[in-house]
Amino acid sequence: MEWKREIQIDPAAQSLAVIGAGVAGCAMAARLRRLGWRGPISLWESGRGAGGRASTRRSRHNHLLRFDHGAPLLSISAGPAPTLLAPLLEAGWIEPWPGALAQLDGEGQLSAGTTDPLTQGDLYRGRGGMDQLCRGLLELGGDGLVLNSSQLVRHLARSRSGGWDLLDQDHRRLGGADWLVLSGTLLVHPRCQELLGWPEPPLQPLVRTLGDPQLERAAAAIAAIDTSPRCALLLLIQPPAAEAWRRLPFRLLSFDEAAQRRWGLSRLSIQPLDAGCCAVVAHSTADVAMLHAGVIGSRSSVASLAGVTPTPQREQALIHTLASALSAVVKPWITSVELAEADPQLMRWGAAFPQPPGLSSELMLCPQSRIGFCGDFTSGPGFGRIEGALRSGEELAEQWLAAMVPTPVPAQGQPA
Ligand SMILES: Cc1cc2nc3c(=O)[nH]c(=O)nc-3n(C[C@H](O)[C@H](O)[C@H](O)COP(=O)(O)OP(=O)(O)OC[C@H]3O[C@@H](n4cnc5c(N)ncnc54)[C@H](O)[C@@H]3O)c2cc1C
Repeated sequence: MEWKREIQIDPAAQSLAVIGAGVAGCAMAARLRRLGWRGPISLWESGRGAGGRASTRRSRHNHLLRFDHGAPLLSISAGPAPTLLAPLLEAGWIEPWPGALAQLDGEGQLSAGTTDPLTQGDLYRGRGGMDQLCRGLLELGGDGLVLNSSQLVRHLARSRSGGWDLLDQDHRRLGGADWLVLSGTLLVHPRCQELLGWPEPPLQPLVRTLGDPQLERAAAAIAAIDTSPRCALLLLIQPPAAEAWRRLPFRLLSFDEAAQRRWGLSRLSIQPLDAGCCAVVAHSTADVAMLHAGVIGSRSSVASLAGVTPTPQREQALIHTLASALSAVVKPWITSVELAEADPQLMRWGAAFPQPPGLSSELMLCPQSRIGFCGDFTSGPGFGRIEGALRSGEELAEQWLAAMVPTPVPAQGQPA
């Protein structure tokens, strides 16, 4: 059972802005609320809704359509499980993963189960789409969590009261708070220069002027994190062709090293939809994504918010490359992949997976500057996966509360 800490704090005293409504940002907000903290919390997200790399691409025009185009599942590989897992399961936001897992080798042989590190441990998925995980976290956070979607925070500034102002591309103030949490690396990491053409990571000038050694160490550690990219090909297969895809002997196919070298794909996710349709998501290898570094999906929300020009011809070429690899892989079961009828889309995950060692937990909170960091890039169990994102959000909430209020003495029989 979750231990609810009784805290006495003026709810109007301190506000918190969380940049990023992926798993870590939503978990941080939910955990804070469930620990009893009632101050205002706003979340700022460049995407169309909560989810981040565990989001679901949906269509305003076709309610049947949905793609889990990032993470297709989550795995909990270490105990004890994150505190928020049980309430998410109880409320039906997530469910045990029901599908078959398989692995492909370089000879094209299929075997049941996988050695893929992303599928070890207890497996779950969002019920009705992976974005239900973040929706559930926000629900668990209760009233008063304000999610501001489609808002790219471009600049940060200190407010007169020593808090933080969040600004858009034109330096217009989007909002502000006494404390700030960055649940993504974009505002700290040099990759924003290459990706969005920004002259430098927006937090860096503040790091230089604030004179906070803890913040300097945290920012340096985040800026040094290497990431591995992926591209995703998204296909919507209509009936009757969808029937063959729905009958495939796996829901998630992992490619071993030899298979990755041969086909340039790392995973294939089969997502049956209502009305006999089937969503198919094929993830490239890191090598293929690096080879096509400049190709950003033209439906990418961050690219359109930041005004990055798409490259349709290069995008089409990459779609064809990934689709012909996919055709070759599914040939034993599916005679032809009709691209023109499958509304192919491309998605680039430029920083799909952080590489170790990541940010150590001692550097997650910088009380002097009133800023904290969480995300799957913080070191510990589940690093680089949803598990790590959940744990880091929970951990930052606990560290943050400890810095705000004196540690209470647990009553007898309660865990410390
Ligand atoms: C292709 C792929 C497959 C994966 N497969 C698995 C898997 O099978 N199992 C698993 O456990 N994990 C998997 N992962 C990893 C998993 O998705 C991540 O570990 C997890 O979702 C990270 O959550 P997060 O909250 O730390 O970061 P994110 O999800 O990246 O959230 C950060 C959020 O911050 C937002 N943001 C950042 N900067 C700004 C800004 N300046 N203004 C506004 N918003 C901003 C971003 O839009 C984003 O939504 C996969 C990832 C990818 C890409």
